Amino acid sequence: MLVVNKEKCNGDAVCTMLCPMEAIAIGEDGKAFIDTDQCMECFACQTSCSQEAIEEQ
Ligand code: SF4
Repeated sequence: MLVVNKEKCNGDAVCTMLCPMEAIAIGEDGKAFIDTDQCMECFACQTSCSQEAIEEQ
């Protein structure tokens, strides 16, 4: 399962534009979060994140 490390996320939302499932969004805290029911673990968000904020759990 992929999760967002909120301490690393800078909220630039690049991941939200790349996700083919619309499974990642920016929350009210300005940080990304992943809907794990929608995520198909393609790793597009992880490989594109400049902050290395997407982590496997
Ligand atoms: S791994 Fe793929 S499907 Fe899952 S949140 Fe990231 S970009 Fe979306």
